[in-house]
Amino acid sequence: GNNVPSDLEIAQRAVMKPIGEIAAAAGINPEALELYGPYKAKIDPSKLNVAAGAAPGKVVLVSAMSPTPAGEGKSTTTVGLADSLARAGHQVMIALREPSLGPILGMKGGATGGGYSQVLPMDQINLHFTGDFHAITSANNALMALVDNHIFQGNELNIDPRRMTFKRVLDMNDRSLREVVIGLGGPAQGIPRQDGFDITVASEIMAVFCLATDLNDLRERLGRITFGYTYDRQPVTVAHLGVQGALTMLLKDAIKPNLVQTIAGTPALVHGGPFANIAHGCNSLIATQTARSLADIVVTEAGFGADLGAEKYMDIKARIADVAPSAVVLVATVRALKMHGGVAKDRLKEPNVEALAAGVANLQRHIRNVEKFGIVPVVAVNKFATDTAEELDWLLEWCAAEGVQAAVADVWGRGGGGDGGDELAAKVAVALDAPHAFRHLYPLDMSVEDKIRTIVQEVYGADGVDFSVPALKRLAEIEKNGWSGMPVCMAKTQYSFTDDATRLGAPKGFTVHVRDLIPKTGAGFIVALTGAVMTMPGLPKVPAAMRMDVDDAGNPVGLF
Ligand code: ADP
Repeated sequence: GNNVPSDLEIAQRAVMKPIGEIAAAAGINPEALELYGPYKAKIDPSKLNVAAGAAPGKVVLVSAMSPTPAGEGKSTTTVGLADSLARAGHQVMIALREPSLGPILGMKGGATGGGYSQVLPMDQINLHFTGDFHAITSANNALMALVDNHIFQGNELNIDPRRMTFKRVLDMNDRSLREVVIGLGGPAQGIPRQDGFDITVASEIMAVFCLATDLNDLRERLGRITFGYTYDRQPVTVAHLGVQGALTMLLKDAIKPNLVQTIAGTPALVHGGPFANIAHGCNSLIATQTARSLADIVVTEAGFGADLGAEKYMDIKARIADVAPSAVVLVATVRALKMHGGVAKDRLKEPNVEALAAGVANLQRHIRNVEKFGIVPVVAVNKFATDTAEELDWLLEWCAAEGVQAAVADVWGRGGGGDGGDELAAKVAVALDAPHAFRHLYPLDMSVEDKIRTIVQEVYGADGVDFSVPALKRLAEIEKNGWSGMPVCMAKTQYSFTDDATRLGAPKGFTVHVRDLIPKTGAGFIVALTGAVMTMPGLPKVPAAMRMDVDDAGNPVGLF
C-alpha cells in the first residue's frame, strides 16, 4: 500500500552510530581509521593491528537466480543475513560493491540493500561516497590522455591509432558516447581517431583495482594493461608508456576500503564495483581480505545471477587469492520464478503456483551450477508482501525435494536486526561448518576456446558456442601473445542463461555467440562479449532521475 516507507525514508529515519564506534567494535585500531565525515571512514589495511597467525574469516557468497529488472534482493539479503548472524552472536563483517551512478539515475535502484536491511548513509554511498569512482575514472582517462599525447608528440612507441583497445570512461549511462571521433580540428588538436566511452564499472582499471592484493600488486597490474597495438601488431602496455606509477598515485587513497554500518550496526566494507554482466562483478579483494582479517564470517555478494557473478567469483577472484566461499546463498523470489514461468511483468503479484512450478527450472539450474564448484547452496527465499503462504510452502517443499536447505527471509520487511533472517542465518551457519571440496570450473591450461565452451555448456546449459570472424582472429592473437593461460570473463545479459535477454526459464538447445574477445592483461582475464551486451549502457525512456530532488533542508528525495 501507500504507507510502506521507501528505502530512502527508512534510511533517513535510522539512527547511525559514529563510525569510530563501529570501527572499535569491529576491532579496528584508531591508527588504521581515516574519517570521511561522521559516518564513513577508510581503513588502511597496512596499519591494522591484527593478530598474526589468526585464521581468516570464512566467506559466505550471496548470489541469485536470474533476476527481473528490479533485482531480486541480493544486497538486501547480504545485509540482512549479516545482521542476523551478528544477532545470533557471530562476529560478522559485510563486503559489498560500491554503487555506480549510471543505473541509479536510470532504472535499477541503488546497491545498498532495501527496506530494513540497508547500509548507511545510503544516499551518500549511492551518490559520490568517498570518491573512489572519481579516482578510477580519472586514472582511466589520465591513461588515455597520456596515450593520445604520446601519439601526438611523435609516437615513439609506433602505436596504431586504429588498433586501440582501451576507451575513455564515465560513470554514467550515456549511449551517445559509445562511439566518438577525437582529435578533430587540425594539426594542433591531436591525431584524429575513432574512440568511445565505456561506463567506469566496465573499465579495466576498475577490475585491476578490485583484484589487486596491495599497492605494489596494483602498480604491477596497471603496468601490464594492454591499451592497444603497434603498426606491426605488437601489444603496447602501460609499462611501455611508463605511467603505471602516476596511475597508482591517483588510486593510492581510493584503494583503502570504506567502512560504513548497517541499520542494525553491523560493520560493512563497501569498496570497488565492477558490474557482473560486463565485468567480473565482485567488490575489491582488499576489502574481502581486510574483512576476513577482522571477522569470523564475511558475507559478500557477487552481482546478478550465479551464472555471472558467482562463476566469476569462483573462476577469477578465487584464483588470485584463497577466498573460496565456505557457503553460497542463492536468493530466489516468488515473483522472479513466476516471471521465468511465463507470467507477464504486470501480473507477478497475482498468486500462481503453476507458474512458480514452471519457473523453478531457472533456480534448479543455478543450484546445480553452484554444486559444480563443490558447494551445496542454501536457498534464501526473499519474501515479498504479495507472496502467498501456498506459494512459499510449495517452494520450500520443492527445495527439500531437491536436497538443498532453504529458508524464507523477511529481512526487507522486518530487518536482519529483527527476527526476519534468523532461520536463514542458522542454516548458513550450519552450511559454513559442513565439509566441502571447492573446485574451479576449468583449469587455466585449457585453451581459451575450451574455457568459453566449458562455461557456456556447464553453467549456461548451451549446446555450444560460435565465434564471429573478428573473435576468431582475436583467439589466434591471444595464442600468439601467450595470453591463453588467463581465465575468461564472460560479458552476457543477466536476464537469461542464453545471450538473448528475452529467453527466460532454463532454455535448452541454444548456442552462445561470441562477437569479440578483449584481453585484459592487467586484470588478468579475457573478456568474451556475447550477444548484444553493451559496455556503455543507455538510459530508459523515463529515467529514475525524473523523480529525484532535494528538500529545503538539503536532504535527497525520491532516490529510491
Ligand atoms: P539485488 O542486489 O539483487 O540487485 P537489491 O537488494 O538491491 O537487489 O534489491 C532491489 C530492490 O528491491 C531494492 O529497491 C529493494 O528495496 C527491493 N526489495 C528487495 N527485497 C524486497 C522485498 N522482500 N520486498 C519488497 N522490496 C524488496
